[in-house]
Amino acid sequence: MWNGDSYLEKLYDEAVSRHRSQAMLELRNERRPKLKAALREAIGHFEPNPAHAPKLLERVECEGYIRERVELSATPDLTFAAYVLIPHDAKGPLPGVLALHGHGYGSREIVGLLKDGSPDEAEPGIHQHFAVQLVKRGMVVIAPDVIGFGERRLLADLALNPDVPSSCYNLSTQLMMLGKTLTGLRVTEALKAFNYLAGRPEADANRIGLMGFSGGGLIGFAAAVLEARINATVLTGFTNTFKDSIFAVHHCIDNYTPGLLAYAELPELIGLIAPRPLFLESGENDPIFPVAGFRKAAAEIQAIYDAEGAGDKLAQDVFPGAHEISGRLSYDWLKRTLSS
Ligand SMILES: [Zn+2]
Repeated sequence: MWNGDSYLEKLYDEAVSRHRSQAMLELRNERRPKLKAALREAIGHFEPNPAHAPKLLERVECEGYIRERVELSATPDLTFAAYVLIPHDAKGPLPGVLALHGHGYGSREIVGLLKDGSPDEAEPGIHQHFAVQLVKRGMVVIAPDVIGFGERRLLADLALNPDVPSSCYNLSTQLMMLGKTLTGLRVTEALKAFNYLAGRPEADANRIGLMGFSGGGLIGFAAAVLEARINATVLTGFTNTFKDSIFAVHHCIDNYTPGLLAYAELPELIGLIAPRPLFLESGENDPIFPVAGFRKAAAEIQAIYDAEGAGDKLAQDVFPGAHEISGRLSYDWLKRTLSS
């Protein structure tokens, strides 16, 4: 066979059957920490920057909430901005949410702003201004600017094309050559934002969850696996098998983590969040995270939750829609779960 199709198929099947036999040989409580360590290793290490002091950049009164913009740093020589949305009627520490956007123009897209920072009065796009939806339900929300989008595109990319949609390609390839990944950098920054939110007086550090859409679902799932203080997680437009999504559909290079499939398929990795509450949301016509793969993954994750004695902590919603956020059940689930 000159073509590699069946060869790739064989390699995939061998990897998956190796996972199965390893899972049978290893006790669950041995395999889970091993997979968690493998995920941490695969996404790469980033030096922490504990000395950096957060800086308030702006504070704006909005309808029903205050919107702050703060500057943070997770690793030396690199800073980033995040919006913090605080409900007006905040009485005592409130539940908090780390809100992670996907491909687009950055965190402004989820806090109801246009690219230039002016209010977006039009119908929201696929991100549904979801950070605003959450603050309006009485949660304090932090929405960090994910590196590679909007104001965080590389100057080298902008010099060639001022309208370049992202810098994922150059960030991913250069980090991979250094034994790191763009996912690792994004997760490191997301966890910094989580820690900053946990330290804010308006938020209850014991009641902080996460909601991530698409690429933000990738960051969010890894962050929730690695940070046990994330109490509730909503993944939307992301949950699937590697085979049915990033192997079957042309995806941004930031979805590929070298070596990760040698350890596990995506559902088993997402299952590492168990027994903490998890909500899986998917559009039934999502072309890039197809619903058949979602259903397969959700069933496997349910089996893991059942084995962990936490079957009732997993919820899901397949909504009529494409690659977009619905929120029809997940927003209230997050509020309820973090309030109980
Ligand atoms: Zn990307």
